[in-house]
Amino acid sequence: MSFDTRVTQRPLRVAPTPRIRPEYKRRMRLADTLQVLCFVSVAVSIALFLGDGGAARFSTPADAITSLGVLTGLVGTDLLLVMMLLAARLPAIDRAFGHDSAMALHQSLGKPALYLILAHVVLLITGYSLAGKVTIFAEAWSMITQLPDMLLALAGLGLLILVVVTSLVIVRHRLPYEVWHIVHLLSYAAVLAALPHQLTSGSLLIAGSAQWYYWLALYTGVAGSILVFRFILPVVRSLRARLVVEGVDEVGDGVVSIRLSGRRLRRLKASSGQFFIWRFWTPGLWWQAHPFSLSAAPTGNSLRITVRALGDASAALPGLRRGTRVSFEGPYGLFTDRARTSPRLVLVAAGIGVAPIRSLLETATFLPGHATVILRAHTAEDSYLADELAALCQARGAELRIIAGKRPAGLNTWLPAKAVSARVSLKTLVPQLRESDVYICGPRRWTDEVVRDARSAGLPTRQIHFERFDW
Ligand SMILES: Cc1cc2nc3c(=O)[nH]c(=O)nc-3n(C[C@H](O)[C@H](O)[C@H](O)COP(=O)(O)OP(=O)(O)OC[C@H]3O[C@@H](n4cnc5c(N)ncnc54)[C@H](O)[C@@H]3O)c2cc1C
Repeated sequence: MSFDTRVTQRPLRVAPTPRIRPEYKRRMRLADTLQVLCFVSVAVSIALFLGDGGAARFSTPADAITSLGVLTGLVGTDLLLVMMLLAARLPAIDRAFGHDSAMALHQSLGKPALYLILAHVVLLITGYSLAGKVTIFAEAWSMITQLPDMLLALAGLGLLILVVVTSLVIVRHRLPYEVWHIVHLLSYAAVLAALPHQLTSGSLLIAGSAQWYYWLALYTGVAGSILVFRFILPVVRSLRARLVVEGVDEVGDGVVSIRLSGRRLRRLKASSGQFFIWRFWTPGLWWQAHPFSLSAAPTGNSLRITVRALGDASAALPGLRRGTRVSFEGPYGLFTDRARTSPRLVLVAAGIGVAPIRSLLETATFLPGHATVILRAHTAEDSYLADELAALCQARGAELRIIAGKRPAGLNTWLPAKAVSARVSLKTLVPQLRESDVYICGPRRWTDEVVRDARSAGLPTRQIHFERFDW
């Protein structure tokens, strides 16, 4: 049997010249602005120290070490606040980077921020002990027992270490998601616990000074954004949408599509390909929320997701009753037609990754003959939503290719063994790849391989889009 099944035929057309869409340029401008703001916030925290005459406090080793301690504390705290903003679900950040990239950046800042805060503690104790000619232990003890709010700050540091350690890949994968998530939420308490000692110890943040106003504004801005965008807005939107389960349809072994109905859903401005974080208000499920992508284009009164049972929550979803209330956060993600930069479209899916690909296909803009859908499966029969994809491809003039077969053992490839021996690649499957945006969704390693194939075909980053189903 051939590994490649061409389900629909591609009409021949001449491709128009690729044109970068204005939305892409706007997004890049927004991303650049946000990055500059991030650097500016770090520069301002250094300027706070310099504005307080910090440059003159490097004359003795004790002063120099203490000054470095203050600087690392300021920059470390600033990075922690930037990390919190990245995870605060701010619409501008989601629009500029996409939720997964923002979370990846958030994750990558965790260790540097912790190291800076640890350096802050060590340097200050060392600097003060040198100045006071006492041992490091005596200095540490007197700081904890005599300086106001220091115990609280220490508790904050303990929480921060716990959060970073539980986020290390090796530890995180051993913990249930919900446990990791609750521990992670403690980072809010950690950052808040550090604030009183910043305001009451040292000479930098004196009440009423410009530095004091700036620091409080920074803290208030971040806390307000988290409160509004992570907590208040999702509750308000969920109450307004009045979303309920309309029906559950079996799609395949352990896979169901869940139809949801609500009111005035256009106000959510959701797009095909985006995901929400859903909470189903039923015993056993109400206490956990899970991200699932839209598997059909959203309408004014309906949404649909398609879920594969991978754990306890997803396995319980087929049992949802009609009328179950549903609350949500979102929509999130840049895996949409708005991220397009080229006239042609290539959609590549494997496994349950077909869900956002299916909804994208429904509404993406392309001329008949200018889109190719590549569905990767073990056998031509075991892919999800394949019938719906075939019908949509037929209706919209897209080509559907089902690439079936097992991956060769020991080789890093997204293709089956037969395709590898036949030297198949994205470029051979889609001759007009260079004029296309490629959207990829599937298991992490498989996705990495498709991305690698697209890059080696010369596709620039702006034309490659992928959604990861794990953060
Ligand atoms: C952006 C995004 C879109 C997704 N879209 C779909 C989809 O359309 N269809 C689909 O079937 N699956 C989708 N997933 C995967 C889905 O969220 C997980 O399979 C589901 O959360 C597993 O929960 P569980 O309790 O059943 O399994 P568990 O055994 O608790 O977890 C299985 C895996 O899912 C991860 N996970 C669990 N809960 C969460 C959570 N709240 N947030 C992030 N990761 C979590 C765990 O870390 C673990 O790796 C998506 C994931 C992401 C991040």
